[in-house]
Amino acid sequence: MITAEWKPMDELVASLKKGYRRVLLLGCATCVAECATGGEREVNTLAPLLKMALAKEGQETEIIGRTLERQCEPEFVAEVAELAGQVDAIMSLACGIGMQLVAETFPEVPFHPGVNTTSLAIREEPGLWTARCAACGDCVLGETFGLCPVARCAKSLMNGPCGGTRPDGSCEVDPDTPCIWYLIVERAKARGALDSLADVRPAKDWSNSRHGGPKRMLKEELRP
Ligand code: SF4
Ligand code: SF4
Repeated sequence: MITAEWKPMDELVASLKKGYRRVLLLGCATCVAECATGGEREVNTLAPLLKMALAKEGQETEIIGRTLERQCEPEFVAEVAELAGQVDAIMSLACGIGMQLVAETFPEVPFHPGVNTTSLAIREEPGLWTARCAACGDCVLGETFGLCPVARCAKSLMNGPCGGTRPDGSCEVDPDTPCIWYLIVERAKARGALDSLADVRPAKDWSNSRHGGPKRMLKEELRP
């Protein structure tokens, strides 16, 4: 799932303090609802908070809350087309993908992000999400025993630990995060395959990651 967090309230208020009289606060019932950031409940929580904060700043603004099934699908975004034409601005609580689809669909309406999109993650335990993938475009999980060094090493090291791993196996950058190379080595040992980590491999292909420019995926068989 994609995780996101509310932007600081000061930043949200500053972005809406532009004389707007009606603002559409748009949630998404999928990933950002799962991580308790942008679902219907969070829209209903944030709307009155924004209204009050703006009133304190001397701006009376109606905050209209709506939550779409998915903000990253045009069919669902179309559901608020009429409403989008009746507001002065839209603030979205979806991930960066959903936000951009909304901004693209209604280019004439001022758009403001309500969240920062943070990771592709799993819910490791209640209230804790941890990154698992960085969509690098050339997956190496087959070589690293199913553990991702791109997303889970603070330095995205591809050839083993940096040397800063703490004695308890945590990362030198964050003691609350396991060193992923420590975990890779432990898993390799458990499988009796430690030697495989010494194999010389071709350099990872980064051309299909963000460094190679914007990605696109084309499947001719699905095109009309
Ligand atoms: S290697 Fe790349 S595609 Fe595979 S899990 Fe890690 S970031 Fe994601
Ligand atoms: S301690 Fe481990 S996870 Fe942290 S930066 Fe070094 S190799 Fe990466």
